[in-house]
Amino acid sequence: MWRLHKGILPTRKALARRCNIMDTSCPFCGLHVEDDLHVLKECKRVEEFWLCGPLNIKVRTLKCMSISAWILHACDSLPKDKWDWFYMLLWALWHERNGVVWKGNSFCPLNIVGWASKLLDDYHKAHPVSRKNKSRPQVKWKLPPRGRLKLNTDGAFHGATGHGGIEAVIRNEDGECLAAIARPFSRVRSAFQMEVEAMRAGLLLLIHQGMDSVDIETDCAAVSMGLHINTEDLSEVGCIVEDCKAYLSSLSSFTLRSI
Ligand SMILES: [Zn+2]
Repeated sequence: MWRLHKGILPTRKALARRCNIMDTSCPFCGLHVEDDLHVLKECKRVEEFWLCGPLNIKVRTLKCMSISAWILHACDSLPKDKWDWFYMLLWALWHERNGVVWKGNSFCPLNIVGWASKLLDDYHKAHPVSRKNKSRPQVKWKLPPRGRLKLNTDGAFHGATGHGGIEAVIRNEDGECLAAIARPFSRVRSAFQMEVEAMRAGLLLLIHQGMDSVDIETDCAAVSMGLHINTEDLSEVGCIVEDCKAYLSSLSSFTLRSI
């Protein structure tokens, strides 16, 4: 972050000034010269990552002359309790870029969010004092509009044992439960895996019950992002994400958001 603010991030354009580098193209899109502003904000593929990510940042609406100007603006427009998320996503995005450049990895937005989320968790565990009085605000469940259904999904994971579980509930406009599913899992690898499994189970339940016109809510921003992004998901749970996308495409009317 210090290098970023100082404008000395070793992007291909920056390196080309000092050494003999032939390829200065952006490793994500391959269409533009890679400088810090492009690779962290303006690249088409990165724009999608910011928009569909947990902070829903519209990078295109603001033209900036430098990356530090954009960071200042972004922090200005975000609530203070989101700043750590923003910086961790920036850091994870640069890490992902290095994986693409040095290891030949594929660009995978879900990996970035997953990695940033884990780093943030580790940071909060190491700095418990700074989290005092910052418990997550309670979100009150709301009835779906008339004529629509609501699907809520949730996953749980116990890291020490590798056990997990999922649940999905479908309710109508009066709040009555029409269908629900819950089941345990063993040999689970991550909390994110459970969240996506919960979504898949909920969508299958909808389809088996012949239900449609549904507002879907998950408490996992990464799931919502993964299902909004069009590129194929190559993360470790990519096949489950792709299943969910296929089930969603069979619904005639749905909304999907994270709460
Ligand atoms: Zn690019």
